[in-house]
Amino acid sequence: MESKLQKLKCHLTEINDLNSAAALLHWDQSTYMPPRGDDARARQIATLGRLAHEKFIDPKIGQLLEELQSSENSLPYDSDDASLIRVTRCDYERAIKVPPTFVAELSSHGSESYQAWTKARPANDFTAVQPYLEKTLDLSRQLADFFPGYEHISDPLIDFADSGMKASIVRTIFAELRAELVPMVTAITSQPAADDSCLRQIYPEPQQIDFGVEVIKRLGYDFNRGRQDKTHHPFMTKFSLGDVRITTRVRENDLSEALFSTMHEAGHALYEQGIGMELEGTPLARGTSASVHESQSRLWENIVGRSRNFWKFFYPKLQLIYPQQLNHTPLETFYRAINKVTRSLIRTDADEVTYNLHVMMRFDLELDLLEGNLKVRDLPEAWRERFKADLGIVPPDDRDGVLQDVHWFCDVIGGNFQGYTLGNILGAQFFETALNAHPQITNQIEAAEFGTLYGWLRDNIYQHGRKYAAPELIERVTGRTLSIAPYIRYLRTKYGELYNL
Ligand code: ZN
Repeated sequence: MESKLQKLKCHLTEINDLNSAAALLHWDQSTYMPPRGDDARARQIATLGRLAHEKFIDPKIGQLLEELQSSENSLPYDSDDASLIRVTRCDYERAIKVPPTFVAELSSHGSESYQAWTKARPANDFTAVQPYLEKTLDLSRQLADFFPGYEHISDPLIDFADSGMKASIVRTIFAELRAELVPMVTAITSQPAADDSCLRQIYPEPQQIDFGVEVIKRLGYDFNRGRQDKTHHPFMTKFSLGDVRITTRVRENDLSEALFSTMHEAGHALYEQGIGMELEGTPLARGTSASVHESQSRLWENIVGRSRNFWKFFYPKLQLIYPQQLNHTPLETFYRAINKVTRSLIRTDADEVTYNLHVMMRFDLELDLLEGNLKVRDLPEAWRERFKADLGIVPPDDRDGVLQDVHWFCDVIGGNFQGYTLGNILGAQFFETALNAHPQITNQIEAAEFGTLYGWLRDNIYQHGRKYAAPELIERVTGRTLSIAPYIRYLRTKYGELYNL
């Protein structure tokens, strides 16, 4: 059995290496590659992806997994080896259901569609991407149909990102959350808006970068196993547990941009850097789901990084760096500025309270499209109507409306957005559990000591990688299933105090 397991691990490590090489090419494409490298780079990444997929669906792997069934049963459920066999089997059974020709078609359509979107968005031209989107919708339905027996056509697509989740569960959670959020947004936005002009002065770039680096080092991001570079759309990527990179972008006239996107991506990276070294090179060595991943970026960015206690420590340091800009702005004004709630157009710029309304509308539109109740050509109008109903404003154009997110233009339609809001909910649920175990965390944040919080997250969540699927992990860590209650308590306490609700 030992040698069979060794064989499986060898095979999986080679697949991991191909995927890591593709990720490195992608990182390079998004940071330093000259523009004319684009075409060849898309091909190179696709080649590596195809080789990895072919290697993974090799019947040899199915054979090995079958032969290892009995040793899996004899090992403790949460041992590294039993978990590796279990998770690999699950991935394998999913992968073999999708024909390689379809994977290739989806991938090349994704690249073409993305190219079209990069031109159509600045030109505000939805009709230019409409045929691509129609094909994407068709391919998304086909992909779902490789997994028959679903309750809702989006279920297989949701399951790819958030294993164990399905449309009916997400709908129920979102309906509960919406009922809480809509009156909260109305109550807050009926008051005078917070003054955030202090954030919109000129802040030279080098100091912004240095300050962000200082902050994330304190949070626990390890620069011996990572680095930060500039890009257009910040992301985190990993080539091994010893090389977990983040990217950021700077706007000199908006202090919040680099600061919070750096903390956000560092949150994702803390998760990956915290995975147990013994899982290196295996399919277990990454975050367990999109929503659990997002729970960590949002926890560090918002619950920690936008808290008053955090800034009691860091604001005087920021004032020293930018005395001219900030010496006349009290901490309280700054705190209110970084937590300003407003009805805005762009999801990624939205505040904590309105953000989820942006996500829910995208989720519902995905379901409508997949169900066939909404035609692609009617999508811009459906977007405007829903936006007006939920956020009370109408996007002036498609550029900042239906064309704003890249997701539908590089991936399937379905399963793309629920993870953002589930992540917000989970971030609060995990944080509340950590706080119950270690009430001193609140005071420690005020002293920029994050070791207790980081250690708790590492021990309970990060180190396990994909050993436990999300629903299992949530119950193990918090003693219950996913619940919106801690998130509502968090929002009510924070924004209740800020806006006298
Ligand atoms: Zn994120």
